[in-house]
Amino acid sequence: MTSAAPVVLVFLDPAFQNGRVADASKPQLMATDQGATRGDGVFESMLAVGGAVRKLQAHLDRLVSSAQALDLDIPGEDLWRRSIETGVAEHRSQHPAPSPADDELVVKLVVTRGVEGAGSPTCWVQVSPVGAVGRRQRETGIDVILLDRGHDSGVAERAPWLLMGAKTLSYAVNMAALRYAHKQGADDVIFTSSDGRVLEGPTSTVLLAHVEKSDDGAGGVRTTRRLVTPRLDSGILPGTSQGALFAAAKTAGWELGYGPLEPQDLLEADAVWLISSIRLLAPVNHIDGKEIGTPAIQKQLTAELSELFAGIQ
Ligand code: PLP
Repeated sequence: MTSAAPVVLVFLDPAFQNGRVADASKPQLMATDQGATRGDGVFESMLAVGGAVRKLQAHLDRLVSSAQALDLDIPGEDLWRRSIETGVAEHRSQHPAPSPADDELVVKLVVTRGVEGAGSPTCWVQVSPVGAVGRRQRETGIDVILLDRGHDSGVAERAPWLLMGAKTLSYAVNMAALRYAHKQGADDVIFTSSDGRVLEGPTSTVLLAHVEKSDDGAGGVRTTRRLVTPRLDSGILPGTSQGALFAAAKTAGWELGYGPLEPQDLLEADAVWLISSIRLLAPVNHIDGKEIGTPAIQKQLTAELSELFAGIQ
């Protein structure tokens, strides 16, 4: 097996206190692993900048809550932290970044239900470089289409076995939606529910902003900036990026809001983004071919929010 991007693997193995480094060019999984046979497991994708993983605690917390939703018993946080450190250090020493600005790595944590009959999960950390496309889209922005996710916005509460708020390995539908968008000439997708609500992207959270100018009562102008995301109980994954950015934006004086949102709200916004841990803040230029917001305002808000987001550890 050859892989274009250099990948480092570290398996969580009780016999190795800092994790067991494995050769990513050799087979490492049993064919009967339920991650492979059923897509049964959970994962996290995180960004390491200059060797430091961003929002590590939030990702570890979400890994635990995803695992709980699937009744998966996973190793403790300390072993994850040490294995992540091993993987990042190994990657940076084997494949140093060409420049400090390029020192970005994707750190993926994977848990499967394990080999059939074994009764214990298979867990590993995978470290690889960040893809060029995502990095470019932070700058250029993206064109998006709306696609029906096939469920209503109340399904998470009604049907917990659908695991709506968990980050499960079953991403085939999300990837199919992205391929469908690419065939239509778009870069990405915003899912909508069958009752007409805006949900999320296949690998990202939706954000929109409104800027309002009003009389401040003292002869000046007051500018109100409002950042809005879909309701977290609408069957979407709670984004660690959205959570962290909302906290930073609040401190910086932004008003915050949580849906419900409809497609019209996106079309009427001053700016829309898809936000996620690896690609960060990607401005949405068009939705279903319609231009979103005003380019000058979008650019200014993107710069401001990107700076706030970059300051998050
Ligand atoms: N929603 C979905 C379905 C995702 O897969 C992701 C990330 O991969 C997100 C939202 C954004 O989450 P985060 O900001 O934690 O990366």
